[in-house]
Amino acid sequence: MRLALGLCLVMLAWCGLARGGQDARALLRPQVRVEADPPSWYSPALFRPMPRPKPGDWMAEHPEPPQSFEQYVPAARVRPRVGRHTLYLCPLGAMSPQEQARLDVLREYLEVCFALPARVMPPAGLDRVTTRDRRMFGRTVRQYLTTDILDSVLQHLLPQDAVCMMGVTMADLYPEESWNYVFGQASLERRIGVYSLVRFYPAFWGEAETAESLLKALKRSLATLVHETGHMFGVQHCQRYECVMNGSNSLAESDLRPIHLCPECLKKLRWNIGFDVPARYEALHKFYAARGMAAEAEWAAKRLAECGQKPPAKAG
Ligand SMILES: [Zn+2]
Ligand SMILES: [Zn+2]
Repeated sequence: MRLALGLCLVMLAWCGLARGGQDARALLRPQVRVEADPPSWYSPALFRPMPRPKPGDWMAEHPEPPQSFEQYVPAARVRPRVGRHTLYLCPLGAMSPQEQARLDVLREYLEVCFALPARVMPPAGLDRVTTRDRRMFGRTVRQYLTTDILDSVLQHLLPQDAVCMMGVTMADLYPEESWNYVFGQASLERRIGVYSLVRFYPAFWGEAETAESLLKALKRSLATLVHETGHMFGVQHCQRYECVMNGSNSLAESDLRPIHLCPECLKKLRWNIGFDVPARYEALHKFYAARGMAAEAEWAAKRLAECGQKPPAKAG
């Protein structure tokens, strides 16, 4: 039996990316020229270089070629185009009203991070998806097969104007019989992915919910969403800095990573999507402050100052 691996199975899908076949629609923001951007936008001062990996870490277990900005540009196939620039979240399977409300927070964060419209779709059922029951923590947990969710549910739901769609579920997932579980899986070629949030929450581990554990679950959900959406836009695992795009072999490893994009990953997405960097930090600061994420809000304010913008006023 293989142990569970990795937060996402997206890298397995890279080799299946369609060659050619670029969408011929006009780019949403064709005027962006990153070479003319102020260097301060990509200052590394507030970022830590990636440390040497320890045994068991993602980089130790999964050697991958690094992806520079120069390598990213010609390889990025998914780009926001006129009439195809909306990010979709699709709730999958049973969710409580509280869990559904959390999707609105994720939707808002997507809009802030990628400066594209994001929508939550009507919920879709998992009734026809292959499942298996596993004993864990003294109870039986039903798990759903990710490949089946991609093929028989999400593939048929992708809206015309979607740049990509993420299925989000509170069900536990597995990608094939030999794996214990998986956090998610994506098909970049089809611009769809499915991610489970259930293991981010204390209830799954039989632990009590506290304000602190719920905030941790929120941060994990937000980081996963940005990481996976970054993959959808062709950004590979980051090896230069501690960054939200670092690969993670476990929840413990990903909990050590920041929620932010490093300067290199930021530049890739700025080139691809065309968001305004200081405006993005300002929106991030507002989002974090409103959600009680004080350390992240403070960080965003520092980056904003670094970009030569007036730091936002402290909420009183
Ligand atoms: Zn990944
Ligand atoms: Zn990075």
